[in-house]
Amino acid sequence: MTTSEPLIVLEGVNKYFGPLHVLQDVSLSVDRGEVVVVIGPSGSGKSTLCRAINRLEPISGGSITFDGQPLPAEGKALARLRSEVGMVFQSFNLFAHKTILQNVMLGPIKVRGEKSAAVRERAMSLLERVGIAAQAEKYPAQLSGGQQQRVAIARALAMQPKALLFDEPTSALDPEMVGEVLDVMTSLAREGMTMVVVTHEMGFARAAADRVVFMADGQLVEQAAPAEFFASPKSDRAKDFLSKIL
Ligand code: ADP
Ligand code: MG
Repeated sequence: MTTSEPLIVLEGVNKYFGPLHVLQDVSLSVDRGEVVVVIGPSGSGKSTLCRAINRLEPISGGSITFDGQPLPAEGKALARLRSEVGMVFQSFNLFAHKTILQNVMLGPIKVRGEKSAAVRERAMSLLERVGIAAQAEKYPAQLSGGQQQRVAIARALAMQPKALLFDEPTSALDPEMVGEVLDVMTSLAREGMTMVVVTHEMGFARAAADRVVFMADGQLVEQAAPAEFFASPKSDRAKDFLSKIL
């Protein structure tokens, strides 16, 4: 295996929810260090795509490989995959009765059995990195939404993932807090983290994405570098979508 091989490869992926064909022959590969922004109308399958990549959702057909291996279905291999593919959701899902620091330390200790002292040090430096170190001993409810989402990013990073998936990480935030979360994501992108980001923040897509992928009705309709995509979308569906959000 060489490091030039893509980190994430989806080939002809199909997914049904009952009769609903929510992913239709989706093929996509994400290189190491690449930042792919996924956009598209509500219901187009963006969340399902993300969830399929760390196997929160089993697929109905096609294949997905991560770091050269087919996604494991269960057991220790699946737990390892989930730790290698961090996920940040719209709702931060922090544990309310644990401190910020405990929230960040939990995964490495519980899932990976790491020693608490080493994890604490890493967790504190991650909290530093997302600008929350001063709040380490507080509880989630004492933090703003933007701060909580930055903690959720630190928590994902604590597992030392090979890739991070973001599913509309700023959609639940008050507008004045969106920037602080996007700033953290932009620095991660610059530092070379492999990222798949579902977002409606086109400023982020322009600034941080290597590639924009446009989905509609379960299909990957087109993909291009952000400058090219925003300047000259090719499909009518992408043109229509952009005309509504820009
Ligand atoms: P997006 O994130 O682009 O809004 P989703 O991936 O959430 O789209 O959903 C794609 C389609 O699949 C939608 O029609 C949605 O209603 C449907 N869907 C998503 N999750 C489920 C589920 N667990 N059961 C049934 N239908 C679902
Ligand atoms: Mg969604």
